[in-house]
Amino acid sequence: MRSDHFSQKFEQISLNLLDWLFPPACLGCGVEGLIICSDCFTKIELMPANVCNLCGSYTSRRGFCPQCARQKPLYSGFRAFAYYNGTIRKAIQQLKYHNDLSIGRYLAGMLEITFARTGWEVDLVVPVPIGELKREQRGYNQAERLAKPLSRKLNLAYDPGALTRIHELSSQVGLDHYARHENVRNAFIASSNKVRDKKILLVDDVFTSGATMQAAAAELIYASAEKVFCLALAKVKHESAEIDFSMPNNV
Ligand SMILES: [Zn+2]
Ligand SMILES: [Zn+2]
Repeated sequence: MRSDHFSQKFEQISLNLLDWLFPPACLGCGVEGLIICSDCFTKIELMPANVCNLCGSYTSRRGFCPQCARQKPLYSGFRAFAYYNGTIRKAIQQLKYHNDLSIGRYLAGMLEITFARTGWEVDLVVPVPIGELKREQRGYNQAERLAKPLSRKLNLAYDPGALTRIHELSSQVGLDHYARHENVRNAFIASSNKVRDKKILLVDDVFTSGATMQAAAAELIYASAEKVFCLALAKVKHESAEIDFSMPNNV
């Protein structure tokens, strides 16, 4: 515990030093000084409170939208910090394709704010895993870059080995809602030893149709997790908006 505390302090000092030597440029406008400047921060389209607790779509009634009320997913709640556009979209692309450690820590702060408003009780943080091939190509899982610093901020246990992606998915781009669900079915395997009777916080960068979170949560529940809550940095407002042919290996 002591050495973990020491390594966290050391990491913090190293990152502060790096920020001082190479000040970051705002992801929104490029101005030097902060990862997101205050001007760009205020333009972020935050996710409002009056959305469905399970899928994040607008709803006039409290709680669940009609579709989720009819057929509830196996997870107990979903929230995202903002919508997937503008500066947040740029930040996620930076997180995904530029191997920048400091951005994960910064964005985890946004997840911490979002989590604090939920009232969820959890005891284990698990990132949504990516397949081996994708990990080899990218070198890391961007969801881990969010989930690990978040677990530290929340002082919760963290286990990236609790859930594994057992087969590569074909690209989700261009698939309709039904096809996305079919594409992720049986894509994950959870470790019962690690998740049994746990209340899990599942963390991902982007929530599109919810198909990935649903499949991951179903597997965790199947492996005897007590509850699963889903937290994403950004939610795609309209599924077609996620299609971005400029980026490699889009999910
Ligand atoms: Zn800016
Ligand atoms: Zn819903």
